[in-house]
Amino acid sequence: MTAIAANLQAVRTRIAAAERESGSRSSHGAPPVTLLAVSKTWPEAAIREASAAGQRAFAESYVQEGIDKQSSLQDVPLEWHFVGPVQSNKTRLVAAHFDWVHSIEREKIAQRLSEQREPSLPPLQVCLQINVSGEASKSGVSPAAAANLARSVSALPRLKLRGLMCIPEATDDPLLQRHRFAQLRQLLEALNAELGLNMDTLSMGMSDDLEAAIAEGATIVRIGTAIFGSRS
Ligand SMILES: *Cc1c(COP(=O)(O)O)cnc(C)c1O
Repeated sequence: MTAIAANLQAVRTRIAAAERESGSRSSHGAPPVTLLAVSKTWPEAAIREASAAGQRAFAESYVQEGIDKQSSLQDVPLEWHFVGPVQSNKTRLVAAHFDWVHSIEREKIAQRLSEQREPSLPPLQVCLQINVSGEASKSGVSPAAAANLARSVSALPRLKLRGLMCIPEATDDPLLQRHRFAQLRQLLEALNAELGLNMDTLSMGMSDDLEAAIAEGATIVRIGTAIFGSRS
């Protein structure tokens, strides 16, 4: 087994354990957790290794880097997610090359993505990025501004609003981790009720905090380091 295959197996084991743990607490069955492999900075060969070990969904943070890898991996059926900041001069490329965007934080960017998404492609699946920790340096819309953004994004014809994403402050305090992820879940529930939406996706949890995220209802965890190693 390659190192990446072994790491993937270890991550799948962590996810399954966290799902069992949270399933034993909630009376109703939670939706299964999707593992998204964050391959930013890693070469095509690393993605091929992960793909050979059964991984299908990959995420990139830089548009051109992601597109370059996609073009050399055309022989493999993969799903591509974009998780980095979307600049307005990159929306056309993102709309053409990705299946999902997790990092919608401005209405204008969402409008451009909808206008530029080709009719031949399925709608672009999107999440709103929420700044749950309120750090000034962090991307994402504030929880207070989320309803307006959700209302306008959900009306765009070529986007499908699937849910919310967050990157909380780095902390090894498990209670604070749980609190941030609970905030995102409660916001999703409140927006669904208030706006009559049916968002079904909580994109939360990374290599160091996936257990806390799954305990609070994550449906997609975004894992880089624990699969590919540390980025230099
Ligand atoms: C890099 C990145 C990740 C992966 O983080 P790890 O700690 O390496 O697992 C997840 N989400 C986003 C948005 C990222 O940019």
